Amino acid sequence: MTRRCPRCAAELPEDAVWVCPACDYTLRTPAISKVGILFMLLGLVLVGAYVLGPESFGLTPGMVPTDLWNLMMANFPAMVAAAFAFGMLLMFAGAMFVRRERNRVAAGA
Ligand SMILES: [Zn+2]
Repeated sequence: MTRRCPRCAAELPEDAVWVCPACDYTLRTPAISKVGILFMLLGLVLVGAYVLGPESFGLTPGMVPTDLWNLMMANFPAMVAAAFAFGMLLMFAGAMFVRRERNRVAAGA
């Protein structure tokens, strides 16, 4: 069974995992990039929780220990920055997988 590129319908060789050798189409998003997107979404949720307040997420002060919550709020900018930075790092790592194969294809063809 041969796989075909969804964009140009060229037959894909066995080793074309990320990129179509014919048209450079990105065949799939590396899982690590998806995890990175999740972390960036987590950062957005954290921003929302900070702006809207914990009550809007159904969190009452009793559910999260007050000390922990105060600690989170005190370190909030660092937490958001860390979530975004980690997300971007993972997305970048995923992009490197794709780019490495693209370079290999460009060099071989
Ligand atoms: Zn293609």
